[in-house]
Amino acid sequence: MNVVERISNKKVLHWFRKDLRVFDHEVLSNHNRTHHLTCFYIHHSRYTTYHPLGFPFISDLRKSFLEQALTELQDNLHNLEIELIIFNSNEDFEKYEFDEVDILTYQKQFGSEELLEEDQVLGNFTTEFHSFNSFTLIEETKLPFDVNAVPNTFATFRKKIEERPIYKSPTKDNNIPKVQKSPFAFYGGSKSALSRLQSYFEGNLPSTYKKTRNQLLGTQFSSRLSAWLAIGNITPRYVLALINQYEHQVCKNDSTYWLKFELLWRDFFQFQLIKYNTQFFKLGGIKEKVIQPLKNRQKFWQWANGKTGDDFVDANMIELNSTGWMSNRGRQNTASYLVHDMNLDWRWGAYYFESKLIDYDVASNWGNWQYIAGVGNDPRPFRK
Ligand code: FAD
Repeated sequence: MNVVERISNKKVLHWFRKDLRVFDHEVLSNHNRTHHLTCFYIHHSRYTTYHPLGFPFISDLRKSFLEQALTELQDNLHNLEIELIIFNSNEDFEKYEFDEVDILTYQKQFGSEELLEEDQVLGNFTTEFHSFNSFTLIEETKLPFDVNAVPNTFATFRKKIEERPIYKSPTKDNNIPKVQKSPFAFYGGSKSALSRLQSYFEGNLPSTYKKTRNQLLGTQFSSRLSAWLAIGNITPRYVLALINQYEHQVCKNDSTYWLKFELLWRDFFQFQLIKYNTQFFKLGGIKEKVIQPLKNRQKFWQWANGKTGDDFVDANMIELNSTGWMSNRGRQNTASYLVHDMNLDWRWGAYYFESKLIDYDVASNWGNWQYIAGVGNDPRPFRK
């Protein structure tokens, strides 16, 4: 039974996770079919805690981006006469008494902590459940291989997918927010995401993406969509549909292909995370390599504060600390520097990025860090 059949004429309780939008959404796009819909969101258990190295697990910049998105979501839901209850902690959620519902719906997430969180939340209800996945381009059940046997190299994964691509299509609905053209800003919420998408496509930037994507400065060399994708203000299937439309109506070339290629990298890491689960976070990574990094906190803080003495690394870290974002090339180089020049534990760097990046995504962050540390999906044993 699909989600529409399952929620029709029912009292539905929707748990928002990384699907913070009201359009192109399995439940919200079909809310008029439900008998009644209420929604809730629970802040991460690490929202107010610190990593043992002394930085908050979630930085203020990341929190503001999320808070902006939640405020917009609450307003949009209010306009649809749907209530959103936001819990600051799991304890607050557990104390709350919900009215009787027929079904609880939620977006599936793949990290080991997210799976644990799912068990905890579901444990509070005796109703029917329905989960869906709008986070990836491809449904895990539609992969040409079992998700637990997903190839370990991106090249093999991509080739197999491209032989017979079965990508999801956006959900049809009338809730798409109207947007106005505005200067680029990382502001949480679907409106800013859609405004960025509009100006990116109207500015013809997808047609030059492959040439520009490794640049470092400015706002136009890459799509800058990652932060909105990470909390589900937009979906990758929505972006893909726009690229396909652009290819059809404006231009189809290596660059437009490359944007899809990068979105596939995103899917690749999500499926790797499903396959490897907690192995993703271990020092030896998915390769279970034996490594002995230094545990030098002073060196770590030089790196984190942009004070290594290497201008290129420092400039990128200063950008990260002041904006919550860094280019892909910057991320590759700063990560490589921490691992291969400073010989520090790659997980320290991954945790620091987790704290700071407004586009933090568990699979993409930890997957990319492992790759650079030589304990992950890179077929080359050492890449400095
Ligand atoms: P574009 O170049 O415009 O690419 C389009 C989209 O493709 C991105 O928005 C993103 O969703 C996806 N994408 C592109 N490159 C990658 C990649 N290497 N891996 C996975 N997806 C990709 N990306 C995150 O979204 N969250 C993270 O926490 C994250 N941590 C990273 C940590 C390290 C050490 C490295 C090297 C990369 C990390 N990335 C992460 C991947 C990549 O750097 C960002 O997705 C990208 O820079 C975001 O900018 P953009 O939206 O302009 O990307």
